[in-house]
Amino acid sequence: KKKWNRVVGVLRELEEACETPVGRLKQVVDAMAVEMHAGLASEGGSKLKMLLTFVDQLPTGSEIGTYYALDLGGTNFRVLRVQLGGRRSSILSQDVELQPVPQHLMTNSSEDLLDFISSTLKEFVEKEQNDSETSIRTRELGFTFSFPVKQLSIRSGILIKWTKGFAIEDMVGREVVECLEAALNKKGLNMRVAVLVNDTVGTLALGHYHDCDTVAAVIIGTGTNACYLERADAIIKCQGLLTTSGCMVVNMEWGNFWSSHLPRTSYDIDLDVESPNPNDQGFEKMISGMYLGDIVRRVILRMAQESDIFGPVSSRLSTPFILQTPLMSAMHEDDSPDLNEVARILTETLELPEVSLKVRKLVVRVCDVVTRRAARLAAAGIVGILKKIGRDGSGGIAGTRSRSDIKMKRTVVAIEGGLYTSYTVFREYLHEALNEILGEEVAQHVSLKVTEDGSGIGAALLAATYSS
Ligand code: ADP
Repeated sequence: KKKWNRVVGVLRELEEACETPVGRLKQVVDAMAVEMHAGLASEGGSKLKMLLTFVDQLPTGSEIGTYYALDLGGTNFRVLRVQLGGRRSSILSQDVELQPVPQHLMTNSSEDLLDFISSTLKEFVEKEQNDSETSIRTRELGFTFSFPVKQLSIRSGILIKWTKGFAIEDMVGREVVECLEAALNKKGLNMRVAVLVNDTVGTLALGHYHDCDTVAAVIIGTGTNACYLERADAIIKCQGLLTTSGCMVVNMEWGNFWSSHLPRTSYDIDLDVESPNPNDQGFEKMISGMYLGDIVRRVILRMAQESDIFGPVSSRLSTPFILQTPLMSAMHEDDSPDLNEVARILTETLELPEVSLKVRKLVVRVCDVVTRRAARLAAAGIVGILKKIGRDGSGGIAGTRSRSDIKMKRTVVAIEGGLYTSYTVFREYLHEALNEILGEEVAQHVSLKVTEDGSGIGAALLAATYSS
């Protein structure tokens, strides 16, 4: 009995530490807008890098012809071909080929990796139907490269560092498009890299292609990031920036956002300390799919240490990242009366003994607390962007106008990523928080629209926009 009370104590403490009342979320909104401002004011002015993308035009629908994309950014890489019809949302055909990147190529030399990519692309191009249009002219390629890049122009940039398991030292500090084009030439492939983009920028491009009120894009999958359309004159760190539209897409790298208003627990601190990148990606570590399951594991471990309700602490339970987020969501969304799925995952994945229904319910409750916090913080981040561009109904940071004076423009945010699209409860909590923060009236004008494969298709669309 006493032990059960201790376990409940662990839960109560977690609930309290994870609380996100709307007042607190609004503080996060303000902090996000302020950090965005700081990141735009000077290089290194904020934990938000606010990277220039040189994308100053987004696809409008007038794009026509066949374009290619290469999407490298994680365990899989993709080659794509899209055929555009010249009207909004008229993708006449799209072919995609997905290939896992062999483990050894992630750490060998850049030559090995780029040779592999070029070969795959060459085979893909050669399978193209013999239509005269593409065989005569140079094929235009959009290159999605989702690693931190110091962009130099729309079609060039220097790799700052590898992430996500890649570690090819000889490529760090080099211009990635030059490297790729050299490899393509070696294979005798006549292609021109028209754009170099980050995956969020692809998502924004695809969103804008379908709906011209799309002003920002958010990815919530294994990791999380966002980009949005900013006024060029608001990018103070780059004085006199000339763009055709007066705007430029800014890649926020928002996973690294930090604010003292974020509700942080001892589990977050431990997870961070034990991670390969401590003090980095603080927002991402509270929100994205890579981490949520592990936060839950840490809470269960603590409960197991405080009592014997889970039997002796299993070595599985002490293994970082063993409880992956899809398993966490499966437990959370278990609607069987006995919570059989929860029981199965606890025994199979964490090698815990059979536990009572009461304990299973406790585990579901832990999943709920962790996911709810994540979703609500993601919502606050989105409203932070809207606030920065004056689309949150408050009349901008100054807030001088009263609400009734403001005519809200229809505002669309493109969104993708497995956590958002596959985890229903997460998605619902995010929407609920968005409504709470914005208020119902303003929220009516804001919609989130799921794009699919935006990182690849969007790059092909941008290749069309920027083709020579
Ligand atoms: P990535 O972000 O790796 O490029 P995705 O956008 O497809 O790819 O996101 C995959 C991530 O989404 C997984 O790592 C996982 O964290 C999360 N995810 C996928 N399916 C689910 C699910 N059913 N429930 C919860 N999270 C999921």
